[in-house]
This record gives sequence, structure tokens and C-alpha cells, in this order.
Amino acid sequence: MNAIVVHAYGGPEVLSYESVPERLPGPGELLIANRAIGVNFIDTYFRSGVYKAPQLPFVPGNEGAGEVVIVGEGVSEFTPGDRVAYTSHLGAYADQTVVPAELVVKLPGSVGFEMAAASLLKGLTAEYLLHRTFDISPGNVILIHAAAGGVGLILTQWAKHLGATVIATAGSPEKVELVRSKGADHVIDYTKDDFVTAVRDITGGRGVDVVYDGVGKATYPASLDVLRPLGLFVSFGNASGVIDNFDILLLGQKGSLFVTRPTLGTFTKNREILLEQAERLFHVIGDGAVQVAINGHYPLAQAADAHRALQSRQTTGATVLLPT
Ligand code: NDP
Repeated sequence: MNAIVVHAYGGPEVLSYESVPERLPGPGELLIANRAIGVNFIDTYFRSGVYKAPQLPFVPGNEGAGEVVIVGEGVSEFTPGDRVAYTSHLGAYADQTVVPAELVVKLPGSVGFEMAAASLLKGLTAEYLLHRTFDISPGNVILIHAAAGGVGLILTQWAKHLGATVIATAGSPEKVELVRSKGADHVIDYTKDDFVTAVRDITGGRGVDVVYDGVGKATYPASLDVLRPLGLFVSFGNASGVIDNFDILLLGQKGSLFVTRPTLGTFTKNREILLEQAERLFHVIGDGAVQVAINGHYPLAQAADAHRALQSRQTTGATVLLPT
């Protein structure tokens, strides 16, 4: 079978398309034939070495959708031919992937493979950000950074569905329009305008209840300045670089703020929570409350081009890789 292999951490050019040996599933595992593979910013962190893989070389990719081919010993929940998707497990950039069954969910008939690969990791992230990190309810006012991105567009629509007032940032006039068309109440082009001033104006000086920040270095510490007293700073990603000078005293100076740095894996490793998250996600997709925009398609062999586009801020919505 073919897969993308990383032999040494580096830029997109280290994503090498190669023939690799097939592996059979062990106890508790499934062999899945990937029909579509999700591209996520986290894949760039593993490729570059910001996050470390368990070993080198490794097959990157944290999200795939396809059919169960072989069921490992002791697995009773799945049978060959099941339509499934998975996340929180490296190795998705391949024709086939061996995945622990506890990380796999069955797909409803209405959710196709591309939709699943475009939405599972990003959508489960939106689910925990809106329901578990903070329990969003009508009346909450929130700021979502990079709202035209994969997670951002889902988060924006889902937050609106829950009744929040959504202030969003995006990095170009076209992205601003896209986010507005998906229901955000206010959208700021933060490459042109100062988002702190804009949020203060929009909220009449009060500030927002929560900031969802996947941008990281470029928006810190300014993101703290848009929060109301006792507001919550959710730092969930590092698209512009890792925050490396976090100053805990700022939380007190800026109004007894709360801060959290959550990761999806904390939630998905509890199977009960994973299934509840997936059910909620497929429900909001199924009833049309969240529309998943798949705006990039690449053959698996061209994963490097997908990474270049994602890291140079050219993408909106989700990107998928297609095995040939
Ligand atoms: P996106 O599609 O959102 O792409 C990243 C976006 O970040 C870009 O499109 C760009 O939007 C913005 N950005 C701002 N500054 C930069 C920069 N210097 N370089 C590149 N991009 C920049 O990616 P994802 O949807 O895959 O992920 C979004 C964030 O969420 C990432 O930080 C990711 O790591 C994080 N994440 C965290 C999870 C968790 O559980 N903690 C799970 C899933 C994702 P613009 O041009 O509008 O500024």
C-alpha cells in the first residue's frame, strides 16, 4: 500500500509518498481502508516537530474515514464493511490505517466519507469547546479567531445555533465575507484592524465571555484584553506559533481571568464522551445547523501541497486528501 512517510521533521517537502508494508490489526484494533483523509493544522505540528511523533519515521495524519477491512481479536462492535471514521490517532495519510477500535465511530448513512474526514476532528473539537470547556448558552458573547478556517467555520455556526453572539476574526476581505455568510454577528479583518479596539467597541466596553484562540503567538496577549472580568481565555492552537512567554500575572491584572489549554484527545479517550460528541456533531450536520465547507481536495500523493496551502493561509473551511 501507499502512504505519506516523514523520515525527519521539516517543511512540507519531508512528506514523502512511498510504498510501505501493510500491517494487520492486533487485538482491539481495526484495519480501515481510508476513502478520505482529513487535513488538520495539527498535522503540520507533527510534520515540523512542534509536536513529537512516538518515533521516526512515521505516517502522519490524525483523521480518516473509510470501510472496516479486518476486525482484530476481541472487537465486537464492528464488522467488515462498516462505514467508519476516526481521529486522535496518527497514521491516517495512507491507503489503509490500523486504528484502536475504541477511537472509531460508525457513520450515519447521511454522512459520506469526505464529509466525515472533513468534519470529525474539527467538529469534535467544536463540540468540546462549546459544551465542555465552557457551556455556551443564549446570551453569551464570544470571540472566535481565524473563523474562516476548518475549526473556525464549524465553531462559528455551532455557536450561533446555541444562541451565542459571535464576534469573529479572519485574515482577508474574502474570508470576512465567508464568515459573515455563515452567520457571525460581527467579523473583523485582524490583518487590517486592531481586534481589541473593535471588540471593545462592539461590546460597549464590556468584553466577551470567552475567547477561542487557535492562532496562538500572534494574538497573545492581546486576546486577554477583549475579555470581561472573570472571562475565559481558551488557547487551543498555535497556527502562528506557540505562545512561549505566557505570563500568569496578566490574568490577575486583566480582571481575574481564567485560562485553559485543552486538547481533543483528553475527551476522545473516554469512549462514552467520544460517542456522545459524535452523535451531537452528526446531529447538527444532519439538521443543517452546521454546514461543512470542503474547499480543498488533493490526491494523497500531493499532501505537501495541501500543507503549503494551509500554512500560507490560502485555505478556508476543510481540506481532504483522497487515496487513489
Ligand atoms: P485552519 O483551517 O483554521 O487554518 C489555520 C488558520 O489560522 C489560517 O487559515 C489563518 O486564518 C490563521 N492564521 C493566523 N496566523 C497564521 C499564521 N501565521 N500561519 C498560518 N495560519 C495563521 O486550521 P484548523 O482548522 O486545522 O485548526 C485551527 C486551529 O485549531 C489550529 O491552531 C489547530 O492546531 C487548532 N486545533 C486544536 C485542537 C485541540 O483540541 N486543541 C483540535 C483541532 C484544531 P486567517 O488568515 O483568517 O488568519
